[in-house]
Amino acid sequence: MCIWLIATLCTFLACDHDKNTAQANDQNQAAKTESHAPLSFPADTGPPPTFDGDRAMQYVKDIVAFGPRPIGSPNHKKVEDYIISHIKGDVVDHDVFTADTPEGKFPVHNIIAKFPGTKDGIIVVASHYDTNYPLRNTSFIGANDGASSSALLLEIANQLHGKPRDGYPVWLVWDDAEEAIKPDTEMPFLDDSLYGIRHLAEKWQADGTSKKIKAFLLADMIGDADLDIERETNSTAWLESVVFEAATRLGFQSHFFAREGAVSDDHLPFLKIGVPSADIIDIDYGYNNVFHHTTQDTVDKLSPKSIEISGKVILETMRILDKMDPLPPK
Ligand code: ZN
Repeated sequence: MCIWLIATLCTFLACDHDKNTAQANDQNQAAKTESHAPLSFPADTGPPPTFDGDRAMQYVKDIVAFGPRPIGSPNHKKVEDYIISHIKGDVVDHDVFTADTPEGKFPVHNIIAKFPGTKDGIIVVASHYDTNYPLRNTSFIGANDGASSSALLLEIANQLHGKPRDGYPVWLVWDDAEEAIKPDTEMPFLDDSLYGIRHLAEKWQADGTSKKIKAFLLADMIGDADLDIERETNSTAWLESVVFEAATRLGFQSHFFAREGAVSDDHLPFLKIGVPSADIIDIDYGYNNVFHHTTQDTVDKLSPKSIEISGKVILETMRILDKMDPLPPK
């Protein structure tokens, strides 16, 4: 990931993206206006979700052991194969295409695992799995930025394997080519990033799939040992409220929404096509986000507990969405 615009920390660098962010904010404002009625949550019944943070942490270690994983690299192919081997017993779709980037053409591979449910609709949970391209020749391994959320999805898959949901089907999306190809100082982030997820959003809009998607939940940088998830203001307001309700039910609310700000991330293409979307991200990774996009983004900065909290909150969010009938308007 990603360009961030935490309101109080807006820099000249980030302000290149004000226009794009403002467009997303307009959409969000419209959503807020339409859904100003107080949300009514279903009763808090049933056992809380399970999620093995230690197992997810092992997945992080497995992924970073491949080394830097920029698009087009042999290590990228290794992490593709690693993810696919994990879901080989599930229904898997592959969205493969060639992206035309400022550095030439690259193969892009979105991996989608589909888990069945009894309700009509789809909940999508997404994470990018590529690592930063401009840092490809350094020791940057993206333990938090790329690996932690990819591992979270692998552990969510464990929770869904062979257990048809009494609720919406869930599609896990490991999206590709999320990172910018050029440094942010050379090219606006939104003109040169999100290649995989943009392609998927356009494809699912064209074939009608997007109309069935009830919620798009994005996980990014959720492994930080000092976990403080933003209230991300491009996100759909009511869906953010569901995430906070889920965190509160599980007793994790102190890790959520103490700060707020807008982040340009993989959820923007889905917001653009009208899908309620929430970015679950901690963009305060080290003091003033000092570890982000540096070679210091390593496993020792992470905690299995943080991945577990994020994973359980996503699973609880899904459970609440299953029982919210009808869901708020988009
Ligand atoms: Zn990144």
